[in-house]
Amino acid sequence: MTALLLDGKHCAEETETRLKAQVTELKNRTGGTPILATILVGGDPASATYVKMKGNACRRVGMDSMAIELSEQTTTDELLAQIEELNNNPDVHGILLQHPVPDQINERACFDAIAAHKDVDGVTCLGFGRMAMQEPAYGAATPAGIMRLLESYEIELEGKHVVVVGRSPILGKPMALMMLNANATVTICHSRTKNLPDVVKLADVVVGAVGRPELIKADWIKEGAVVVDAGYHPGGVGDIELAPLVNKASAYTPVPGGVGPMTINTLILQTLESGLKHLN
Ligand code: NAP
Repeated sequence: MTALLLDGKHCAEETETRLKAQVTELKNRTGGTPILATILVGGDPASATYVKMKGNACRRVGMDSMAIELSEQTTTDELLAQIEELNNNPDVHGILLQHPVPDQINERACFDAIAAHKDVDGVTCLGFGRMAMQEPAYGAATPAGIMRLLESYEIELEGKHVVVVGRSPILGKPMALMMLNANATVTICHSRTKNLPDVVKLADVVVGAVGRPELIKADWIKEGAVVVDAGYHPGGVGDIELAPLVNKASAYTPVPGGVGPMTINTLILQTLESGLKHLN
């Protein structure tokens, strides 16, 4: 069996073509441009790169970004004040607070201060709850991007056993709820899960979201399973040992070029959705 490559880069590029046309039409009709405000706190080079990539993606489709850079010493109150200012700025349609923030900051309080209608990265508790209840909300960008990628390749989820390895607020937990809402049967694993290999072996679909290079081994994965790897580590490896799966899985996301481009693409898609609601 040769596994189907779930090409996130291609899917994101195709979507960008469509988004570009929608942005042009919106600009022509209203004279307004959707703007994503990005907040980077501190000097972590990986975070700086991600923020830059998100700004670039906005510009590729004709939207704008407003880059806010705050020092490593920023306090929770200072960050909350910055978020409040952006909430009240009618020119800003989406707010991205780059995760992680320095340790002295209460990240959850800051995420939750983002106004729901500008939470285009899907990080607030309110957005999570609404998504879980299948009410309108912007989904957390990485799992929502994964769902869009699986949908674009018509990967069947209903009735499938999905094993999500990882339970972080921005990835594993919302991923599990989105899969449940797609009528999958879902198991969530984490660092205290016993016999992880045995649980993964039951999966029709495996989502690796652990943040540990190749922690999930190829020989844990059932023949014909769909493999989604959200991880990205130096050396171009993910959270799953992917190489041996090319002849064992039925479909897989490559690293890089799978989940990463879909995350950014979902963020700009949701920023445009917000722009469409508020510029009309
Ligand atoms: P995180 O906040 O560090 O969460 C990691 C999760 O993995 C936790 O729930 C943890 O369990 C679990 N875990 C850790 N070690 C484990 C083990 N030995 N066995 C089973 N579970 C274990 O990470 P994250 O932010 O969710 O990110 C996960 C991965 O996705 C990382 O590789 C990250 O780079 C990647 N990511 C990619 C994108 C993208 O755009 N492509 C975006 C976000 C994240 P506990 O809860 O018990 O601690």
